[in-house]
Amino acid sequence: MKTAFWFRRDLRVYGNEALIDAVNEGAQDALFFYCKSQWLQHNVASIQLDLLERRLIELGKQLNEFGITLHIIEADRFATLPALLENVCKEKGITRLYANKEYEVNEIARDDACSQRLELKLYDGDVIAKPGTVLTGSGEMFKVFTPFKKAWLKCFAGQHFHFPSWPLDKRKHAEFAEPDFFSATMESEKWPVDDNAIVAIVNRFIKDKLTDYKEDRDFPAIKGTSGLSPYLALGVVSPKQLIAQIQLHYPEVLENPSKAEFCWVNEIIWREFYRHLIVAFPKLCKGFNFNEKYNAVSWRDDNQAFERWCQGNTGYPIVDAAMRQLNKTGWMHNRLRMIVASFLTKHLLIDWRKGEAYFMSKLIDGDLASNNGGWQWAASTGCDAQPYFRIFNPITQSEKFDPDGSFIRTYVPELKNVPAKHIHFPHDYLNAFGGGDKYVAALVDHKEARARALDAFKV
Ligand SMILES: Cc1cc2nc3c(=O)[nH]c(=O)nc-3n(C[C@H](O)[C@H](O)[C@H](O)COP(=O)(O)OP(=O)(O)OC[C@H]3O[C@@H](n4cnc5c(N)ncnc54)[C@H](O)[C@@H]3O)c2cc1C
Repeated sequence: MKTAFWFRRDLRVYGNEALIDAVNEGAQDALFFYCKSQWLQHNVASIQLDLLERRLIELGKQLNEFGITLHIIEADRFATLPALLENVCKEKGITRLYANKEYEVNEIARDDACSQRLELKLYDGDVIAKPGTVLTGSGEMFKVFTPFKKAWLKCFAGQHFHFPSWPLDKRKHAEFAEPDFFSATMESEKWPVDDNAIVAIVNRFIKDKLTDYKEDRDFPAIKGTSGLSPYLALGVVSPKQLIAQIQLHYPEVLENPSKAEFCWVNEIIWREFYRHLIVAFPKLCKGFNFNEKYNAVSWRDDNQAFERWCQGNTGYPIVDAAMRQLNKTGWMHNRLRMIVASFLTKHLLIDWRKGEAYFMSKLIDGDLASNNGGWQWAASTGCDAQPYFRIFNPITQSEKFDPDGSFIRTYVPELKNVPAKHIHFPHDYLNAFGGGDKYVAALVDHKEARARALDAFKV
């Protein structure tokens, strides 16, 4: 019986329990199926593909040092993968595969089909709580985050996570050849892919930022969040590893949810909540509202407004700065994701599914569960979502979270000389002092748009 490891969105050697078990079973081969057309069909951003390719090359080199060969195989779609997998395994004499689960509907169907052709041992390496295990007293999925979090903490408070030790010594130092079907765009080059650099990012965050996270996390001009989402999305780091690292400095972090350092762990639990949700409600992977009562909302079909939102030309500086940050860097601050998603779904009354797809096509950290969760939260159609009548005012959000306008000035250069007092909605100022033609007029009037959204949702 020959064992191998199948990499998916778990692109790490260390802290990868499924890989360690495969290696302990004697695995010397690892597989990765590069399913570009399947991913493109799901709008995966080119910047994320670039990060994935760069990380795979890094991983291939790392594994080589331990005498493990990573085979990166070009595949078309998940539907054809089981047959391809069977052929590849036959050719290499592989009869048993270890892998980490992915929780989206297509991925689950792919694994079911593959399990019928050969032995597939699946682990839950992308989460701390295995989906389907944090449940209400009557065995159902929570529909509200706070009790989910309490139940999650009940399961894990008192536990100390640790890094499982890696079982192999270095054996050889071979080069790993980059597959010729990789695009090598280097769009993602600002995100390092080697473990030393990533560990340094994690440690710096824990040491310098974790205790201020609660205070700083909502201000896009401050680097107050971890920036680890691209790595979590590809499994370059795992949530368990991150909590283990925090526990080295704050051993009681899970026992003291009121302490500042817990606030960041809370976000990791949101990530777990959304993973639990897509498994409990597979319709979320298929574009359905979580809350069916909102199926009656008539979204507006306004391509011009959608295009202006995508390009960051709505005339609301905080929205425009955020969208331009996304288009330019492939990442957007969480507060801004909430503001622009609310603006699209409430002010423009455009279907959240269009925003969800656009985000996916641009984000380096694109992740179905968190993206869908975030969009349905903002659109009020989701599980434990923002109530429909709470509509973010993009001007007061801007005054609150970018008070001196420094974030806006970074991405909307046409406003760089506008004083802080006027920058959040600069139209009167620009008209009075010249320059009204430099910045785009507001796409909608806040009050009117708010009233229109309330009417549409009341229906
Ligand atoms: C409309 C919308 C769309 C989103 N789309 C995605 C997406 O495609 N991929 C993605 O990873 N996150 C998404 N998020 C969640 C969140 O915005 C990002 O995870 C966060 O901005 C990433 O930055 P960070 O790593 O510095 O986060 P930190 O604040 O340092 O948080 C640490 C980690 O916790 C997780 N996390 C943080 N906030 C959330 C949240 N609200 N929901 C779920 N997990 C969270 C992420 O994995 C993040 O890396 C979305 C949020 C909204 C409102």
